[in-house]
Amino acid sequence: MPGFDYDLFVIGGGSGGVRAARLAASLGKRVAIAEEYRFGGTCVIRGCVPKKLLVYASQYQEHFEDAAGFGWDVGPARLDWPRLTAARNAEVSRLESLYRKGLDASGAERIESRAELLGPHEVRIVADGRVVTAERILVATGAAPNRHPALPGHALCISSNEAFELETLPASMVILGGGYIAVEFANIFHGLGVEVTLVYRGKEILSRFDHDLRAGLHKAMQDKGITVLLSDVVEEVSRADEGQLQARTLHGRTLTAEVVMLALGREPNTAGLGLEAAGVDVDERGAIRVDGLSQTGVPSIYALGDVTDRVQLTPVAIHEAMCFIETVYRGNPTSPDHDLIPTAVFSQPEIGTVGLSEEAAAERFSELEIYRAQFRPMKATLSGRPETMLMKLVVDAASRRVVGAHVLGHDAGEMAQLLGIALKAGVRKDDFDRTMAVHPTAAEELVTMYSPSYRLRNGQRV
Ligand code: NDP
Repeated sequence: MPGFDYDLFVIGGGSGGVRAARLAASLGKRVAIAEEYRFGGTCVIRGCVPKKLLVYASQYQEHFEDAAGFGWDVGPARLDWPRLTAARNAEVSRLESLYRKGLDASGAERIESRAELLGPHEVRIVADGRVVTAERILVATGAAPNRHPALPGHALCISSNEAFELETLPASMVILGGGYIAVEFANIFHGLGVEVTLVYRGKEILSRFDHDLRAGLHKAMQDKGITVLLSDVVEEVSRADEGQLQARTLHGRTLTAEVVMLALGREPNTAGLGLEAAGVDVDERGAIRVDGLSQTGVPSIYALGDVTDRVQLTPVAIHEAMCFIETVYRGNPTSPDHDLIPTAVFSQPEIGTVGLSEEAAAERFSELEIYRAQFRPMKATLSGRPETMLMKLVVDAASRRVVGAHVLGHDAGEMAQLLGIALKAGVRKDDFDRTMAVHPTAAEELVTMYSPSYRLRNGQRV
C-alpha cells in the first residue's frame, strides 16, 4: 500500500517472526524484520537446538558403559567441554547463517537492531533512531527466562541462557524448577558428570504431564544419581567460600554447589517495546493479548509465538505464523489449532506425549480404559542397565477414541510425533489393535496392548 515504507514490519527474528517474514516477502510484500540479538531466536541460538546437541553429548557416558555388555572394551573416557562447546557453537552459527540467507533469498530486509513500537503503524529502529512505517506490524519477540527478582541472591544464579555459555563445566549444580528446562538440564549436566540437585516446589516434577510419566522419570533420575527434592523452595542464594554458592531452602536445607540455575518458566518479552504507546494490551504476565487470528486490539498489529504465551513451543510459533499469512495475505482467515500438540521432554529417559493425561481425561470422560505396559527394553538385556520403558494409552470407552498416548523411554519424542498424527486423525483403539507390529521394536508395545490394564468410571478406578 502506498504511503507506508513497508507492507509488513516484523519485530523479532525467531522461529515465528522469520517464518512470517519469509512467507510474506515471497508473496511479493515489502517486508522488514528486526532482530536485536541473533537471527534464529531462542530455539536455534539458546534453546532447542543447542540443548539437543548437549543431550546427545551427555548420553555418551552411558553408551560407553553399555558397550561392555555387547563385547566392546572401551578405554577411559574424558569429556573435553571446550571442544564440545566450540562444536556446538559452530553448528548454531551455521544454522543462524541459514536463517539469514533464507530471509535474504525471500526478499525480506534484515535489520540488526532492536525495534520498538511508536504507534499503530510506526516503528523506531533503535540502532540508528530511524522511524519507519508499515501497513501491518507483527510482534514476535519471544520470551526470556524468569530471573525471579524476588529471590534474595537471584543475581548469583544463571538461567538456561548462561548454561550454554559456561566456560568450564562445574562440579556441582542446583537447579530450581520442575518443568521442561529444569528436568532436561538436570539430566544433561548429570550425564556430563556434574553432581546435580533439583529442587521443585510441587509434589512431583512436570506438573502438567501424566502421573505415570512423572513418577517414572523421577525414579529413573534418582536411580541415576540425580538428587530430586520435592515440596521445597529455595528462599535465598548466597556466596559461600571458594567459588561455591549456597542455596537455603524453606525446609531448612542448605545446598552447596558451584552453580545455581533457575528454570522457573519464561516470561514474554514485552518490556519497553512501546506497546502502551501503540495501544496494545498485555495480560497480567505481560503477554500480548490477541484474538483467535493473532490480532491485537489494534487492527494493524498482530502478535504470535511465545510473546503471546499461548503454548510456548517452536512448532506452535511457526504454525501461528503460517496461519497469520493465510489470514492476512491469502484471504483465508485461519485460527491456529492448539489442540493435540505432541511434545517431548528430552530427559533421560525421554518423554513423548500427545493428548490428555489420565487425570485430565478422567475429568472429561465418564469412562476410560487405560492400557499400560512397562517393560525392559531389549538393549538393556545385554547392557545390564536397570531401565524400563513405559507406554500408556488413555481411551474414551464410549467412543473408543485414543485421547492420550504417553511414552517414557528411548526415542519417545520420535514416537510422539507419529502418535500425534494418529490422534489428530481421530484414531480409535481398534485401529491400534489392527495395526501390525514392527518387530522387534519397543514401539510395537503400542499395538499389542489388547486388554485394558484398568478402567476408570467417573474418575474412580474400577
Ligand atoms: P515450565 O513452565 O515447563 O516450568 C516452570 C517450572 O518452574 C515449573 O515447575 C513451575 O512450578 C516452577 N516455578 C515457576 N515459578 C516458580 C517459583 N516462583 N518458585 C518455584 N518454582 C517455580 O517452564 P520452563 O522454564 O521449564 O520452560 C519454559 C517453556 O519452554 C516451557 O513451558 C516449554 O513450553 C518450553 N520448552 C520446551 C521444551 C521442549 O519442547 N522439549 C524444552 C524447554 C522448554 P509449577 O509446576 O508448580 O508451576
